[in-house]
Amino acid sequence: MYVGVDVGGTKVLAVAIQDRGPGIEVIGSVTVPMPGRAAPEAEIEHAMARAARAVATGTGTVRGVGISGAGLVDAAGERVRFAAHLPWRDAPVRSRLEGLLGVPATLDNDANCAAYAEIVGGAARGVDSAVLITVGTGIGGALVLGGRLHRGANGAAGEFGHVQVVPDGLACECGLRGCWEQYCSGRALERVMRVAVGRHYDGPQVTALARGGDEVAVRSIASVGTWLGVGAAGLVSAFDPEVVIVGGGVSAVGDLLLDPARAAMAESLQGAGYRVVPELVPAAFGPEAGAIGAALLARDGR
Ligand SMILES: [Zn+2]
Repeated sequence: MYVGVDVGGTKVLAVAIQDRGPGIEVIGSVTVPMPGRAAPEAEIEHAMARAARAVATGTGTVRGVGISGAGLVDAAGERVRFAAHLPWRDAPVRSRLEGLLGVPATLDNDANCAAYAEIVGGAARGVDSAVLITVGTGIGGALVLGGRLHRGANGAAGEFGHVQVVPDGLACECGLRGCWEQYCSGRALERVMRVAVGRHYDGPQVTALARGGDEVAVRSIASVGTWLGVGAAGLVSAFDPEVVIVGGGVSAVGDLLLDPARAAMAESLQGAGYRVVPELVPAAFGPEAGAIGAALLARDGR
């Protein structure tokens, strides 16, 4: 089998997939607590190794481990150059995990991993060009061109979340201001809701309220959805993809987010009504997409 590991905001997830056969068969999944965003990098890497060992225990021989790394991953797939939400700075994460686990390791950006899962068995299967936008704590992104992941000259393509959409806008953890993810993310949703009602709800609570018909929650999600569509229109203008795929935790709310995004995307495109507007569809894989894709990349090679 192959194991994929993904580091989230609050937990480290490891999944195991079958090493052959058609389709994607997830045979195990384990989470361990994330040591914390300010924890030393070694502690985070040990938590990743613990999760990988735990999911492999008693299920067979591990042939390789894929690492879904948040942040900028170098072109060679050796290092995480920079992670906005984690302490990694030019960190040789691939070789460190290989050393900890004693099996071949593969490293890629988390959104690239998620997109690879979509290519193999999801919304990008058989598609020539696609844009993937993952809306979670922040925004992740990936490009599929010619049916393959497009990583860019330095491995850093698809970092849509830190495209500046508001000059001198809200401060971002990456050090810039007005980044797209400040207006379109789980955190943005919490902020919009807090401003509207004067108290804090986390993302899942806002989602639950919206599903129950709470108008402020519905409007808050629609605000994030509108920003999603505006940003997606920019990407469609640049790449003219067959399909725009939206994943990440916030996308679990479905059409309450996606319908405002579809409307804003269509309105924000040049020549609306006289061109093919790509479908904006939910990702096939949920919160495990990064880990599953990482395991598939370990199996298939980058
Ligand atoms: Zn930023």
